[in-house]
Amino acid sequence: MRRIYDFKCPKDGHLFEKFVDSDVHSLPCKLCNKVATRIVSFAGPVLDPISGDFPSATRRWSLNRQEKIKAERKAADSHGLA
Ligand SMILES: [Zn+2]
Repeated sequence: MRRIYDFKCPKDGHLFEKFVDSDVHSLPCKLCNKVATRIVSFAGPVLDPISGDFPSATRRWSLNRQEKIKAERKAADSHGLA
C-alpha cells in the first residue's frame, strides 16, 4: 500500500516525505543523497484541536499536510509510479 512516509537522513537531520510503497524502508536523501531511513510519522495533528491552545494552528497544519499529500500523489502519478 502506498502512502506518505517520513524519511530521516543521518546527515544534519535532513527530513523529507515521500509517497512510497509500505515495504520501502530507505531512500536516497533528496538533499545529500545519503541513505535516509523511514521513520514513524504522525498519524494526525500533534495538537488536540479541542483541548489544545492553538486550534486554528492545528487546523492550518492539518490542511497544509493534506495539500502536501495531494501534491505528492499528483507528482507520483505524473511520473508513472502510481
Ligand atoms: Zn541528507
